[in-house]
Amino acid sequence: MSSSSAQKTYKAGAVIMRQGDKGESAYIIEEGSVEIFIQREDGTEQTVGTRGPGSIIGEMAIIDNAPRTATVRAVQNCTLLEITQEDFSRRLKNADPVLRMTIQVILTRYRDTLTRAEIRRLTDSWPPAESIELGYTEHTDAVETIKIASDFKVALDKREITLHYQPIVNLKTGKVAGFEALMRWQHPQKGFISPAVFIPIIEENGLIVEASRWALHEACKTLKRIESQTGHNRELHMSVNFSSTDFSSDNFVNTIYNIISESDVDPKQIHLEITERLLMQQPDNAKDTLLMCRKAGMGIAIDDFGTGYSSLSYLHYFPIDTLKVDQSFIRTMRKDPGASELVRSIVGLGKNLKMHVIAEGIESKEEGKMLRDMGCDMAQGYFFAKPMPERELIQVLRDWKPADLG
Ligand code: C2E
Ligand code: CA
Ligand code: CA
Repeated sequence: MSSSSAQKTYKAGAVIMRQGDKGESAYIIEEGSVEIFIQREDGTEQTVGTRGPGSIIGEMAIIDNAPRTATVRAVQNCTLLEITQEDFSRRLKNADPVLRMTIQVILTRYRDTLTRAEIRRLTDSWPPAESIELGYTEHTDAVETIKIASDFKVALDKREITLHYQPIVNLKTGKVAGFEALMRWQHPQKGFISPAVFIPIIEENGLIVEASRWALHEACKTLKRIESQTGHNRELHMSVNFSSTDFSSDNFVNTIYNIISESDVDPKQIHLEITERLLMQQPDNAKDTLLMCRKAGMGIAIDDFGTGYSSLSYLHYFPIDTLKVDQSFIRTMRKDPGASELVRSIVGLGKNLKMHVIAEGIESKEEGKMLRDMGCDMAQGYFFAKPMPERELIQVLRDWKPADLG
């Protein structure tokens, strides 16, 4: 096989892609022809068909990152035009949101159909029953996803989306150090929809950009009202969650800086919460963006720390000042006290790197005390307070008694 720019050639008989492999490119056949077949569990092959000039092969893998669903072999010498995953993602990202969503739905249905076709073709024992179910779930999810995506835009305009705020407590003093702003959606028909459900969907279709800007603006206004009504002047922080789509949006830093300064909030009071996943997806872009945010005074917190990425070297690379220990660690510690050593190491790591450490998901006094004794600075969790609307929050702050952890 040789390659010149995006063109690739394959000799007759060469395997172009193999079922089960990770796919990084799709190909348009310029010359020659290929044969597509599916390998069964029992080792035999099922021919799907042949394709000639003008056909596209391997397109599914570059759209949704799933492994190749079939093997493709050159029947004659072939010249193929390569479309890389990167190129495709860039095109998809710039595409109209409806187009993007439609492609995803078609793809899900296509896979669904393939799964069924395969089930009919293959032996009784394979694939196992779960994969049949999965086909259905994916299909239903696709329709549901479209509905959520299209309802969300209206929901933002109609004020069905609100923010709740959860206090973050200083473990040494027991006082409130700040809040995390969390989105809530009260859907007129479906009732409450969890952000864990709708955030990934609006991240996918790009609406998150508008939603995050709205959230930042709301959170800043709330912070000002909290200050004026409770007398905490410029000492509390507000954490706002951002996603990778936000980071790649135009003018991200300028836009958020303007929202903050127009609200008369000190940028130091705003902490951006981002996940490890985001940093790893676009390290260089993220670094530049974060440096600018830090320069403007904002804090940068790594959310769900410990769940996303195995290498820790990135902690030095990015200008991070806070680690939020994921609540799954606290949950594990609750079930298995032996796991507390793990939490202790994570807290120690953050302290060694001179970062603030916030423990998430603290549900009891004992957990709060343990974390404080490990040297963790701050905590957030139902033990201290649940996320709540602004009005309730102001009352809670007025009545706040430093949590006594003993
Ligand atoms: P997250 O950023 O990790 O937020 C913390 C989640 O833990 C919140 O769930 C909060 O209600 C919950 N939580 C707090 N204390 C406790 C506790 O003691 N026990 C338990 N079991 N849970 C606790 P929520 O509000 O459902 O949000 C889920 C996720 O949705 C968030 O996880 C975040 O990833 C995302 N999200 C929420 N609002 C936004 C937003 O405005 N923008 C973005 N990009 N993501 C958001
Ligand atoms: Ca968060
Ligand atoms: Ca978190």
